[in-house]
Amino acid sequence: MTDSLRLSELRTEIEQVTLEIISLAGKRTALAKEVAKVKLSSGFPLVNRGVEQNLRKEVTDQCIRDQSDPTFALRLLNELIMESIRNQKNHIKPSEPVSAYHVFVKAREMERSGREVLHLEVGEPDFGPPDAVAESLTKAVKNGHAGYTESSGIHELRAKIAAYENQKHDLDISADQITITVGGRFALYLSLVASIRPGDEVIVIDPSYPAYSDSIREIGGRPIHLSTLLEDNWIPDIGLVEDNINRTTRMIILNSPSNPTGKVLDKFTLDMIVELAVENDIQIVSDEVYSEFASTPHTSMLQYQQCRQVYINSFSKTYGMTGFRLGYAISDIDTTQRITQLQTLTLTSVPEFIQYSGIKALDCGKDADHYTALIEKRRNGFCKQLEKMPVSFHKPDGAFYIFPMLNNEDLNGLGFADQLLTEKGVAVVPGIAYGQEYSRFFRISVCQPEEQLIEAANRMEEILG
Ligand code: PMP
Repeated sequence: MTDSLRLSELRTEIEQVTLEIISLAGKRTALAKEVAKVKLSSGFPLVNRGVEQNLRKEVTDQCIRDQSDPTFALRLLNELIMESIRNQKNHIKPSEPVSAYHVFVKAREMERSGREVLHLEVGEPDFGPPDAVAESLTKAVKNGHAGYTESSGIHELRAKIAAYENQKHDLDISADQITITVGGRFALYLSLVASIRPGDEVIVIDPSYPAYSDSIREIGGRPIHLSTLLEDNWIPDIGLVEDNINRTTRMIILNSPSNPTGKVLDKFTLDMIVELAVENDIQIVSDEVYSEFASTPHTSMLQYQQCRQVYINSFSKTYGMTGFRLGYAISDIDTTQRITQLQTLTLTSVPEFIQYSGIKALDCGKDADHYTALIEKRRNGFCKQLEKMPVSFHKPDGAFYIFPMLNNEDLNGLGFADQLLTEKGVAVVPGIAYGQEYSRFFRISVCQPEEQLIEAANRMEEILG
């Protein structure tokens, strides 16, 4: 048989198999719609990890029998499961989106109509950048630093960050392992795009910063939300993490200190997560944008160089530079190159003068220490006031936030936040923004001057009694 005849035969066969797959996928979707109807009428949850786990096992067994690649099959299975979930969600009336941003927009509307609002919803410090940083901007532009730069960022800034992190953690990271990004948020997004393929699973510890799951979903990955509980002091259950790892688990995202709980993960917990990550070849993305605001000993992921990782930090919080949009990612050389390529593709580079302001910021340790002390004082002050109210909370170890639970079971965070905003002009974020299970919680940000925080707590007490 000639090669072209053989090729033509194979193509016909592939066509037939493809059509069979499409037809079976259609049948599966129709069945998923039936499942949705039953679930909706009987109130069963949309996702059942136990059922999924069985299916995953059957798929793996079949791959072993067929001598085919289970990793690809399991990613495909995840695509099918995600399609079923999307179909099922189509039957549910979408609830109004809830996030710090949505509350902020509503609060701004109230302000436009003449109401005064105390903003305890935004995670944006009221202290601006140090004077020296502000001044460095015009200086940089006047000195001709107003152009494009290498996509990874200017060498001087990367070298300075490397020296700063090396000194802090006793490491020898090189400037080539660093990408300067548009805020920590873009570092996070690029890290995900660099490593996640459609159908891959990413473990997210809840309650969590909503950008994690939104970004994972946006690129076709599947966030696997693992809850932590107030009664466990927000410590993740390592057994649960282990049970949720499978061949499609590509990444675990950690955030310590945490937004919204203020929890700092202890070294023992990190040791165990790293051990699981290494054993299963999973990358850890460690979002440490609040690391300078830790009041208890903070262990950085950078101290676990045995583990594949992307470490994320930002100038936003540490130096009050949110609007500068300046952050960075540290990883191995290959991942850094991939992240840098993606930055070339999307925006060439961070503005040059902003990068120069970052160099200046790294000399402003004293200002950063002052900001840290200020936030800690505010957090402690607010916690004291909360102790008199019918709420339960873990005293935060760091970050800008307190995440209390309403003790009254008849109250939920959404209703309370709405009442607090409309009746008392105090904006907080309902807990549901950080995970479905936190409907009785709300998040307080202590980024406003102390007098405003005291006033806000008093108004809160007027509602809660
Ligand atoms: N991670 C967490 C946990 C955050 O709370 C934020 C900002 N709210 C970011 C990352 C991103 O911050 P930025 O992009 O300003 O660096």
